[in-house]
Amino acid sequence: MPFNLLKYGLSSEYPVEVDLPPPRELKSSYDVVIIGAGGHGLATAYYLARYHGITNIAVLEKSYLGGGNTARNTAVIRSNYLTSEGVRFYAESVRMFQGLSNEFDFNIMYSERGQLTLAHTDATVRSFRQRAEVNKHFGGRSEMIDRQQIRELVPSLNLDPGHLPVIAGLWHIDGATARHDAVAWGYAKQAAKRGVEIHQLTEVQDLIIENDAITAVKTNRGTIKCGCAVQAIAGHSSLLMAKAGIRSPIQTFPLQAMVTQPFKPFLDPLVSSSALHCYVQQTSRGEVVFGGGSDPYPLFNTRSTLDLKESLLAHAIEMFPFLANAKLMRQWAGITDMTPDYSPIMGLSPVKNYYLDAGWGTWGFKATPVCGKTMAELVASGGKVPELIKPFGLERFSTFRQVNEMGATAASH
Ligand SMILES: Cc1cc2nc3c(=O)[nH]c(=O)nc-3n(C[C@H](O)[C@H](O)[C@H](O)COP(=O)(O)OP(=O)(O)OC[C@H]3O[C@@H](n4cnc5c(N)ncnc54)[C@H](O)[C@@H]3O)c2cc1C
Repeated sequence: MPFNLLKYGLSSEYPVEVDLPPPRELKSSYDVVIIGAGGHGLATAYYLARYHGITNIAVLEKSYLGGGNTARNTAVIRSNYLTSEGVRFYAESVRMFQGLSNEFDFNIMYSERGQLTLAHTDATVRSFRQRAEVNKHFGGRSEMIDRQQIRELVPSLNLDPGHLPVIAGLWHIDGATARHDAVAWGYAKQAAKRGVEIHQLTEVQDLIIENDAITAVKTNRGTIKCGCAVQAIAGHSSLLMAKAGIRSPIQTFPLQAMVTQPFKPFLDPLVSSSALHCYVQQTSRGEVVFGGGSDPYPLFNTRSTLDLKESLLAHAIEMFPFLANAKLMRQWAGITDMTPDYSPIMGLSPVKNYYLDAGWGTWGFKATPVCGKTMAELVASGGKVPELIKPFGLERFSTFRQVNEMGATAASH
């Protein structure tokens, strides 16, 4: 071992940096309890501590930090949605992602490579035109491109898959990926540094509500009083909402993805096709990641299935025929809370001081920074809903003001 490296390693001037302080006893009460240590819960804790000076916070996680959907997603970041509400919200998240490594002083491996969504029908071309214009208007970078431009962008793509030739594409320059674990750990580290307590293996099993307000949570490690609580438990949202007596429009479905052996770089942009129910991307390690839509039946389960593998890969191979010989290394699943309009639920709930960060379906990783920031503003202000998330309140389902993003979500995430 080189002498200088040894000197550095053994020197007391450079002590080993501990990511998280060792676990502590739970206190009997906190100002804020955040349920769920995925990216969203951790981001909310971080923004509260850093920008609002609120540090008497416990983040309670039933399993391990960042081990839920944050660990299972395919890390697509984009803002090319259909509605003005959606584009504004996700465009702010993309902007925040671009600065996140600096904010943390920790590399989240943000990689801007653009996202190409394929159109196979005239109807899709029309809706892509609308998306491109809405996107441009509200701060995203999207444009329509033709077959020749697609060919230049992705030479290895088969433009005539079976019965569905590609006729145009929506090219979203802001499309990107980031290392999902690094995002969760970046938030966790920076929140813990500011005094936030993160308690793993601590499951919230019930909520104590008095006079229509939350006063405490019951966990497997005892009851903890709280000034307010935020639920950020994607995949399980409806379970705790039921305990709080909140009627939820959420249905929960498994969502699967898979990854091949590594290849030399051949695919820079993220490529997706709703008609083929499939998206494909190559990671910085060279592996090819495939994903698609949720499983067709509601279920709380993270089992992979042969059915999905066969149908998804058949379409992926139509897009990139040379991948027929690729070896698949892993297949996995997460659980996603789907809302009727494919938009999230953020904001107040019928229970006073109980805030909702839910309904993140297949699209929540990209919203981690902006959701954390706005949920922190909501909590710190004692319930004043920030403009950016006002359209996403639970009440929209009873006032018929849904934010329909189904067409812009489908197989793109
Ligand atoms: C295969 C797959 C691919 C995806 N791809 C993308 C993508 O490319 N782009 C994108 O934007 N989104 C994607 N998503 C969606 C995205 O992963 C989620 O929306 C996002 O991770 C939600 O983050 P979160 O922090 O809210 O939830 P999670 O990361 O799931 O964190 C919630 C945490 O709450 C904990 N918890 C649950 N119940 C309790 C309880 N009672 N008490 C204490 N803790 C509890 C869980 O253990 C978990 O750790 C994908 C999802 C999957 C499954």
